[in-house]
Amino acid sequence: MSKRKILVIEDEPDIRELLVHHLHREGHRVLAAGDGFSGLEKARKENPDVVLLDLMLPGMDGIEVCRRLKADPVTRGVSVVMLTAKAEETDVVLGLGLGADDYVPKPFRVKELMARLQAVLRRGAIVSEEAAADAIVRGRIVIDPSRHQVRVDGVDVLFTATEFRLLAFLAQHPGRVFSRDQLINRVLGHMAIVTPRNIDVHVRALRAKLGEEREAIETVRGVGYRFRVEER
Ligand code: CA
Repeated sequence: MSKRKILVIEDEPDIRELLVHHLHREGHRVLAAGDGFSGLEKARKENPDVVLLDLMLPGMDGIEVCRRLKADPVTRGVSVVMLTAKAEETDVVLGLGLGADDYVPKPFRVKELMARLQAVLRRGAIVSEEAAADAIVRGRIVIDPSRHQVRVDGVDVLFTATEFRLLAFLAQHPGRVFSRDQLINRVLGHMAIVTPRNIDVHVRALRAKLGEEREAIETVRGVGYRFRVEER
């Protein structure tokens, strides 16, 4: 994989140094910050490809950092991978809702984290190659793959790369049920590291953003998910 610029925002020195060390070894350019404020400053100045963001930070927590990254036109486009402790599941949903691309629970294995990171970088590349496809219109949801844009009831809604791919794929096959494993294989590429549980989290964030159209994505108990068939 090509070299990328990665910003690590983590207050625990041991973990921070471990991450910096391994990312360096993978050939990336690595920046590090020990708190949210200096992290945001570095993100603005250095324009990284990915921010590895710890959620439990002193002062400004990771959720607020994520919110500010996504609210700032300078940093809005950065991919965010959150590092979370197990107990922080609501924060994970919140973070994904704010535009984070993925999360890795602590304690993590370095190999797994690297694989997830690569997946996020690869997904970003895939999405930008998906130009020129026709818009998918499903009731009040309009998905424009060429512009990576979704309008719900006439209003632009911001989706992460992963959410966008999931939504577009399901909407392309209305009425057809896909298992979580199928979604992982067909939508997220060959990312063996993505678990079925991740799919649930992404779908939850997706629905939250669809608002009144949330029921467009139906859960088929014991099987998976499908995009509803429109009533005529
Ligand atoms: Ca921490």
